[in-house]
Amino acid sequence: MRIFTACFAHESSAFSPIPTSIENFREGLLHRPSRGELVPIRLQAIECALTAKATERGYDVVESIGAAATPSGPTIRADFEALRDELLSDLRKAMPVDAVALFLHGAQLAEGYDDCEGEILRAVREIVGPEVPIGAEIDLHGNITEAMMAHATLIIACKEYPHTDFLERADELLDILEATVAGDTKPTAAYCKLPMMGLFHTTREPMRGLVDRLMEMEKEAGILSLSIAHGFFFADTPHVGAAVIAVTDNDMPRAEALCREIGSEFFALRDQVAAPTTSVADAFDEAAAHEDGLTIIADTADNAGGGAGSDSTHLLRELIDRKTENAALGMIWDPVAVDFAFTAGVGANLPLRIGGKVGRYSGDPVDAEVTVTALNPALSQISFGYEQPLGRAAAVRLHGIDVVLSAAREQTHSPECFTGLGINPTTKRLLVLKSAQHFHAKFSPLADRIIYAVAPGVTSLDLTTFTYKNVPRPIWPLDPEATFAG
Ligand SMILES: [Zn+2]
Repeated sequence: MRIFTACFAHESSAFSPIPTSIENFREGLLHRPSRGELVPIRLQAIECALTAKATERGYDVVESIGAAATPSGPTIRADFEALRDELLSDLRKAMPVDAVALFLHGAQLAEGYDDCEGEILRAVREIVGPEVPIGAEIDLHGNITEAMMAHATLIIACKEYPHTDFLERADELLDILEATVAGDTKPTAAYCKLPMMGLFHTTREPMRGLVDRLMEMEKEAGILSLSIAHGFFFADTPHVGAAVIAVTDNDMPRAEALCREIGSEFFALRDQVAAPTTSVADAFDEAAAHEDGLTIIADTADNAGGGAGSDSTHLLRELIDRKTENAALGMIWDPVAVDFAFTAGVGANLPLRIGGKVGRYSGDPVDAEVTVTALNPALSQISFGYEQPLGRAAAVRLHGIDVVLSAAREQTHSPECFTGLGINPTTKRLLVLKSAQHFHAKFSPLADRIIYAVAPGVTSLDLTTFTYKNVPRPIWPLDPEATFAG
């Protein structure tokens, strides 16, 4: 099977003050085989796993771009179009192909494009024609659109949040494409949109049970794939909202019925599956109430993985004001503070201004006398099995609190952010992590309790923070009266 593969993924927030250009992709992942600009596989993000899997299977793989950037604002138009056109040019050269497999995010925005995935799939379909199957694997935080569904043969979203199942979903996509090319199946996809927005952790009930039931249903004959797309509510487009995608073997009525059934069940659970939220004060009160074990407070509102600056100081200030002992916080994005720490050197004491720069939700910077406890010129963490380089990072101690400062804006995925700077998170009483949920995969085995705190921020779960202009209304929870007709 001759298969064309590519990854072009960005989660774009309408509320992020951070602009996005091709340079941000270069800092994240920009793998350009047709130009000979190659990123080693160990450093490729999980999004490129589709290509690796297709290669392992012995397919005749024509690999195009692998492009991914840390979430931020919409990409500037010329850069989005340049990467799109590079992908399309590679595809034209690769023709004829038997199948196309793309990794897309599902919530990518660019100037002039409120549905980048729909645009990419439209352009790919135009080149390959109506017969060639196009499969797309997406992040479950995608906003499913009519154009995406019209131009793709099938779309599979990851099922887990944290997204620990991209590899399994990649295998499913390739299995279905292979069977389709062989003429053994005819993927027939339906979808329905749900008027709901939120974060839905699959690590807790009742979301866990719903995902498990989905996987049981997929074992039934004739059902090829079932996805719940949670949507990405920081996008503020008419496409925002959760969705269900059902793919059957040549049975559209069944696909539509499955969408209605799963959609009704998910919508009915909306109050129960929404991520728990705790005020900052309550989160610290709860942490202080426990004398033993490790408490993690997630700074959900300042998640770089949703487009935030990762430099807000609200929780750092709370740690200081409460004179918290034996605590660590990671990671604050502050390249200037990192520079100063490197210049001063390990062991140096200096007055340092930390954070509070990126935008109006960042809070005031914290000015403190700090001690530089460690420097790492090449810190890295593990992100879904891949090494994610973070570049220069420093650990400083202030008021007895260990704080990790990073020159790269990334959410905290794994304990290596701390251990790479000589901080052992397991000896701490309290860890504050800037991440909404992906930290859960690697940190939950260390933690005795996890509290999701909501401070002001670009990724706040308090949706009244944001002035929505374009989301379809009514939509829950902004409009409690929203209903799903099925
Ligand atoms: Zn996601």
